[in-house]
Amino acid sequence: MKTLKIAIQKSGRLNEKSVELLKNCGLNFENYKSSLIAPVSNFPLEILFLRDDDIPEYVQDGIADLGIVGENVIEETEVQVKYLQELGFGKCSLKLAITNNSEITDLSGLNGKSIATSYPVILGKFLQKNGISSDIRTISGSVEIAPGLGLSDAICDIVSTGGTLKSNGLKPFADVMSSQAILIGREGIEQDDLVQELIQRIQSVLDAKDKKYVVMNAPKDSLPGILELLPGIKSPSVVPLAEEGWVAVHTVIEERDFWTKISQLRKLGAQGILVMPIEKICGRP
Ligand code: ATP
Ligand code: ZN
Repeated sequence: MKTLKIAIQKSGRLNEKSVELLKNCGLNFENYKSSLIAPVSNFPLEILFLRDDDIPEYVQDGIADLGIVGENVIEETEVQVKYLQELGFGKCSLKLAITNNSEITDLSGLNGKSIATSYPVILGKFLQKNGISSDIRTISGSVEIAPGLGLSDAICDIVSTGGTLKSNGLKPFADVMSSQAILIGREGIEQDDLVQELIQRIQSVLDAKDKKYVVMNAPKDSLPGILELLPGIKSPSVVPLAEEGWVAVHTVIEERDFWTKISQLRKLGAQGILVMPIEKICGRP
């Protein structure tokens, strides 16, 4: 039987979440920091641990069938790979930033200026699209110190909280791209049965992530109001209780409107509300 290979980051910001996602998909493997390849004991899959920058090319060239990597890295390496699934972690954005005292006020102010970045491809396309001609200075790390050293007038770098920019006397100025971790595959691999199985498992884990399973007891009279409040996956299940005139309602609630829903349910007469985490939601309609 053939074995698929999936490449994930060996260490860094995407490693932990990538490992967690694969484990939540029911895949058993050892995660030794020292090894480059880990076989999965209960699925025909091997996990390759690589530097994130190498992942898109490995997937394009078929050394790995699948990979988990930031969209920023995929775009920068300009490879031919298939986007199979957005994974919702590793979120960040690539931004242009200028010094706090810069006289640049809009994008056109970047004409003829120099911009330091580790993302020359993405930045080049962005400037071209906006009809701006700047001098792109490619540097591989610590881009944020370039203006202070007199190396550039602006920078283009990954920003999540903005703390690093601030401590270097810089302010964000324009968004170039937003990014998150993506499951990629080499062209055509999405037809493969094992790949489809894996994608379905990943979607089941992602679908369950921000949802809670909620069970409550309620007087039968309050049911219309409660049902109106609760769109479940289909509709909530209603089960009669031994006590006459009472029912149990089972449903799924999105984490983000959880507390508002709970307080409204209590006002409607719901009692003994149990809240449980959901591990997976299988079988998308
Ligand atoms: P490697 O050693 O694998 O080359 P790296 O140092 O290039 O690692 P990390 O800093 O671990 O990369 O970032 C990996 C990815 O995490 C980035 O390419 C980006 O997609 C994402 N990311 C999310 N938040 C941030 C952030 N605040 N700064 C940088 N990257 C971030
Ligand atoms: Zn890297």
